Amino acid sequence: MPHIQCLPTHVADLIAAGEVVERPASVAKELLENAIDAGATAVVVELERGGLTYLRITDNGCGIAPEQLPTAFLRHATSKLRTAEDLAAIGTLGFRGEALAAISAVSRVDIFSRQKGAQAGAMLHLEGGVPDEVTEAGCPEGTTICVRDLFYNTPARMKFMKKDSAEGAAVGGIVQHLALSHPDISFKMIRDGAEVLHTPGDGKLLSAVYAAMGRDFAMSLLPVRGCGGEVEVQGFVTKPLNGHGTRGRQVFFVNGRFVKSQLLQAALEEAYRNRLLKGKFPGCVVHITLPADQVDVNVHPAKTVVKFVSDKAVFDAFYYTVRDALDGENKPEPVAPKQESFYQSMTVQQYKEKTAPAPEVKKPLGSYVSRPAVPASPAIPVKPTAAAVHDVAEKGKTFTAAVPSRDGREVIYHITPPQVQEKPAVQTVMELPVEPVVAVEPVQQKLEEKEAPWRMVGEVLRTYIICEDEGGNMWLIDKHAAHERIRFDALKADAHPVMAQTLLAPLTVTLAAEESAVVLENLEILRRLGFACEDFGDGTILVREIPADIRTGDAASTLEELAQKLIVGRIDPEGVRDELYHTMACKSAIKAGMVSDEKELAALVEKVQSGEIQYCPHGRPVAVKLTKYEIEKMFKRA
Ligand code: ADP
Ligand code: MG
Repeated sequence: MPHIQCLPTHVADLIAAGEVVERPASVAKELLENAIDAGATAVVVELERGGLTYLRITDNGCGIAPEQLPTAFLRHATSKLRTAEDLAAIGTLGFRGEALAAISAVSRVDIFSRQKGAQAGAMLHLEGGVPDEVTEAGCPEGTTICVRDLFYNTPARMKFMKKDSAEGAAVGGIVQHLALSHPDISFKMIRDGAEVLHTPGDGKLLSAVYAAMGRDFAMSLLPVRGCGGEVEVQGFVTKPLNGHGTRGRQVFFVNGRFVKSQLLQAALEEAYRNRLLKGKFPGCVVHITLPADQVDVNVHPAKTVVKFVSDKAVFDAFYYTVRDALDGENKPEPVAPKQESFYQSMTVQQYKEKTAPAPEVKKPLGSYVSRPAVPASPAIPVKPTAAAVHDVAEKGKTFTAAVPSRDGREVIYHITPPQVQEKPAVQTVMELPVEPVVAVEPVQQKLEEKEAPWRMVGEVLRTYIICEDEGGNMWLIDKHAAHERIRFDALKADAHPVMAQTLLAPLTVTLAAEESAVVLENLEILRRLGFACEDFGDGTILVREIPADIRTGDAASTLEELAQKLIVGRIDPEGVRDELYHTMACKSAIKAGMVSDEKELAALVEKVQSGEIQYCPHGRPVAVKLTKYEIEKMFKRA
């Protein structure tokens, strides 16, 4: 057991001073860091009223000897730092020897502690920093510190406290960061009697991310691992398609410590340059490790600022590691990993070796309804061969064949019997999630086909429709932009009110604090856009209904985007309606790169040819026309 002693004054003075006890979250941070320093493998945080009336932290660490209990609460009493030289290489988290003193000065504290292997434990009560006698107590190995009535004797400080919910959320943030920086420790947080977080402590970062940041986020990640010189980088970043509306999901650790760093943020975002949609930000949970003398964590005790000796070395190591991982991701999409392997943090290379490129799914000829994949579902890619379709078709009149596709969806083929046509034709393709999650069938806005003075030539890059009109002009039409415009106009004209679909299993969407607040302020507006939301506490929104024409998989990001627009709308209420409609139109429109049905494409061409639509809601052209003369000029015929 390390011995606790007072720091020499000159060492104490060397340490940047700062007020430790600002709010319940700062108490939780100090106590949790002590528990981690004590070698705990399991920690429980319990709080009531945001931690103001009651905050209890229990650990199974090394414990404190009974006679050392009062010493631990003296100012500058620490077992972790002896000399000024030690400052240069701080390995433990707490190092100022003043946390317990400062916390006990503004609250009522009970501490119970039993050292590993000791016969009995001891307890001590302190009131406003004044200790009672140490008494023997029966308690488990480890330490429990209970802090009651924080700031009871400092009413001025009390006035600065936010609502209990905000203070509780701030404690939650601290627990989340510590859980992510210590995947080998199990963290449990119980707030007003309800368990709100519980990480397994199995040593795997992804397990901690899953438990602390939610399933959706964990499923959207790509592992990164690399190094540059002495700087090591390891963790997870979001796939480019899963960009977020804010930087709220960028979490960086340097030598195990949660930090805010513009340098790391810039390196991350630079690596995503030209890969993310405009206005989207990558998320990440990344650990940067470098020699202790290459980084200064002693800038401010309560803040999360770091200084690197070499900014360039850190930037480069991080930037290139992320870029390489993203480059790897651009190769043909691999088959989704089986659920068992999901918790294994693999490098991109290992991941790719384990998976093979998936074959294409046959282009459908009928209309389709698209529903989201269940991402964790193991998928076996099977190309529906004519023979296979024929097989199923011969067994009766109208048949249904379920074929798992490469992204984990199940593709349902309705088949016409062979006696009607020579070859069985695939009429309708529906993509259904493997587990049914919706109660009401979502229906994508269908577009009607008409006779027309133009000819559709085809589609290229699964994005652009080529057609020719009677005047001999050639058209290139961006199918997403065109459909988006049509949906936008319909929403604005209230022609197609948004239909909501009830989810069998409600979604929980964790948003940044400001985003969840604005969602809760605008429940009625969101309901009109098809989202039925409720407060689930801690910045989490429970979504019971989503618009019928967006994929369940897009619901969370759509809500996040709407929240962002509502935040902007607070300042600029003019135009926010259009912005909201634009998000809805974009999310419900057919997407570039997706397989589209020919009738739908034809309906888009019709709208463009009739001159009804020209620009997408943000002003990009929907179609480009090349006249016969322009084409001839290109070929030097004219
Ligand atoms: P510091 O952490 O900077 O040393 P603190 O005031 O936070 O200062 O704690 C004082 C001392 O009390 C620590 O150095 C440590 O020896 C002991 N201590 C505090 N919390 C615990 C705990 N949960 N388990 C074991 N020892 C602890
Ligand atoms: Mg400490």
